Amino acid sequence: MNIAVLPGDGIGSEIVAEAVKVLKALDLKLEMEWADVGGVAYAASGHPLPEATLRLAQQADAVLFGAVGDWKYDNLERALRPEQAILGLRRALGLFANLRPAVCYEQLTHASSLRPELVAGLDVLLVRELTGDVYFGQPRGRRSAPDGAFAGAQEGFDTMRYTVPEVERIAHMAFQAARGRKKHLTSVDKANVLETSQLWRDTVTQVHKQYPDVTLEHMYVDNAAMQLVREPKKLDVIVTGNLFGDILSDEAAMLTGSIGMLPSASLNEKKQGLYEPSHGSAPDIAGQGIANPLATILSAAMMLRFSLDKAGAAARIENAVKKVLAQGLRTPDIYSEGTQKVSTSEMGDAVVRALD
Ligand code: NAD
Repeated sequence: MNIAVLPGDGIGSEIVAEAVKVLKALDLKLEMEWADVGGVAYAASGHPLPEATLRLAQQADAVLFGAVGDWKYDNLERALRPEQAILGLRRALGLFANLRPAVCYEQLTHASSLRPELVAGLDVLLVRELTGDVYFGQPRGRRSAPDGAFAGAQEGFDTMRYTVPEVERIAHMAFQAARGRKKHLTSVDKANVLETSQLWRDTVTQVHKQYPDVTLEHMYVDNAAMQLVREPKKLDVIVTGNLFGDILSDEAAMLTGSIGMLPSASLNEKKQGLYEPSHGSAPDIAGQGIANPLATILSAAMMLRFSLDKAGAAARIENAVKKVLAQGLRTPDIYSEGTQKVSTSEMGDAVVRALD
């Protein structure tokens, strides 16, 4: 089992070091190799995703990724900005499925913007299609409006498109994930208005025939946005397109209240995946030893479950995280009165100690 370890910028190296510490403590015979990515790679070699890093990622079973980005690179031309490394990796590895769990731990319910009783015990998995939709559809651009009330005015336009095979493969991924949980899948679209969404709905309904043990529900995206803040615990697995998933995954993340706790996975058809925290490189706190490493540690658990077929080891990590929270240990971002403030590495050490 080969893992490409790409810490990246800002707090990336601090949080990835803790995830690696936890992985090593599991004694699983993992081969790990490190490479530069993002701003540090640009500084060292002139490109945010150097050829050697890309090759390492392509040959690995999974990529453990920290974060990329730093304000000092904001004026670089777009193709050289650190964030381009993620897009390059997604493209090169064909990572079409983004899995983002939003789990609200009992001890952190106060951090949510919703009332504790609405989110205590919340565990939603959002499956977002990542390589299609209006973000990539052609044609797109700016032109003189060819018709309508504002003909001749400058207009911007994008194209929303999905093909049946693209919807089928993300639907299969979501049904399989639902099978391993409560066997309930909510497919989110805007089929009352959009042709693309009607095709999405028809295709998901077809794929459902292969998963009769899973209940399928269709929901319009505006309703899904409401249900997420009204009764989020009624949802279990949500599958949706790139645009709606972008927005709903951040909404779901806010339900948990703490960005430092949220892992994510991006997978291709071979289950090769890139695993990273949902947050960015947090340059404002980098180098201070106060970043929360739990999102990255939980991303490593997802890596074991989805790419390396080690669900048992993944559960050990997830239980250890629950234990350290129950012990009252908190990095500053999730600290509240009566709990014990710890550093990034103290949190990593505590998770290692809490492994069964
Ligand atoms: P951010 O997620 O890095 O930070 C937002 C806020 O959350 C900051 O106050 C930060 O200190 C805090 N925070 C984030 N992660 C934390 C953690 N683990 N522990 C404690 N606090 C944490 O978002 P931003 O400030 O908008 O972006 C900073 C840089 O990260 C930018 O260059 C942006 O482009 C990049 N970015 C990268 C990714 C990625 O690598 N996938 C994702 C988002 C943003």
